[in-house]
Amino acid sequence: MARIQQLPPHVVAKIAAGEVIERPSSVVKELVENSIDAGSTRIDIDLEVGGTELIRVADDGHGIEPDDLALAFAQHATSKLTSADDLFAISSMGFRGEALASIAGVGKVTLQSRPPALASGCEVRCDGGDLSAVRPWNGSPGTRVEVRHLFYNVPVRKKFLKSVATELGHVCETVTRLALGNPGLHLVLRHNGKLVYEVPATAGLADRIGLFFGAEVRDTLYEIDSGPGRQRVVGYVADPKCDRGNAKLQYLFVNGRWFRDRSLAHALQESYRGLLMTGRYAVGFLFLTVPPDSVDVNVHPTKAEVRFQENSLVYSLVRATVKARLLRENLVPYLAAPA
Ligand code: ADP
Ligand code: MG
Repeated sequence: MARIQQLPPHVVAKIAAGEVIERPSSVVKELVENSIDAGSTRIDIDLEVGGTELIRVADDGHGIEPDDLALAFAQHATSKLTSADDLFAISSMGFRGEALASIAGVGKVTLQSRPPALASGCEVRCDGGDLSAVRPWNGSPGTRVEVRHLFYNVPVRKKFLKSVATELGHVCETVTRLALGNPGLHLVLRHNGKLVYEVPATAGLADRIGLFFGAEVRDTLYEIDSGPGRQRVVGYVADPKCDRGNAKLQYLFVNGRWFRDRSLAHALQESYRGLLMTGRYAVGFLFLTVPPDSVDVNVHPTKAEVRFQENSLVYSLVRATVKARLLRENLVPYLAAPA
């Protein structure tokens, strides 16, 4: 009988990476979230071949101290949590200290960083878990992470990647969510050296929505705001005439973080009851603010799903706020054709 033994760290990293890093867009999400947590105002994302050959994220954030650079790749190493209590009041995008370790387990990573207060920075490489020495690096303040040859050592996962266009599509969707959740951020996305889009730090959310979804959506938006309270929902919903054949233009955010929630998507749909034909979907961009200790963002490895303490209260708040706003527009209900 085989004896029990603890797995070596590079095997643990590969297993963990399986949960968090599914495709190039997962890497982009983790790296850009780190840049946001670092207080960056501009983030440049460069991809080659849908991100399978290269993903580079460069920011102008607060950087990493040279002495901490190697530690950034260690598992469960984070600067964002200091005690278990912090887990229940998370205000940063990251906190698990897993992303860089996971990415380095399935790709070849170079991390370069310079805190603005230092005259020069340092870099370190990590190939499939093997860490290089820390060397000096002369770059501008901020952090650059380069990931090459994603999944070079995980052939099964590489096999499951789709076409370059599909992988790029996933990255664009990820960047859209991050851009909507952080309207003050200047974002640039390039693919094979060509600009895909540049999103300036726009005046507000409505402009940003217009940038991604066009004037047709931008011009039919109604602003919503439930008003101050323990829970608050603000954002925009579109006129029913802007309806869609799917729910793709229903974006939900809680405390700045994009998430998926069938119940709240249902609340949004319910507010449009009588205004949409069967099989048509509302367009909405809803931003919830709730006390950090009333939402658990630690229920899903990529944090795509969250759990609200006061689930039904949040549901009613969304439905009532959107419905009240639509009522103010005196929209004519859609009349079902007699059977
Ligand atoms: P987490 O984000 O959950 O803390 P990561 O593995 O993503 O874990 O990152 C580990 C640590 O590396 C972070 O806690 C942070 O201190 C540092 N770090 C990573 N990326 C950046 C960045 N772009 N700017 C500044 N610090 C960074
Ligand atoms: Mg992170």
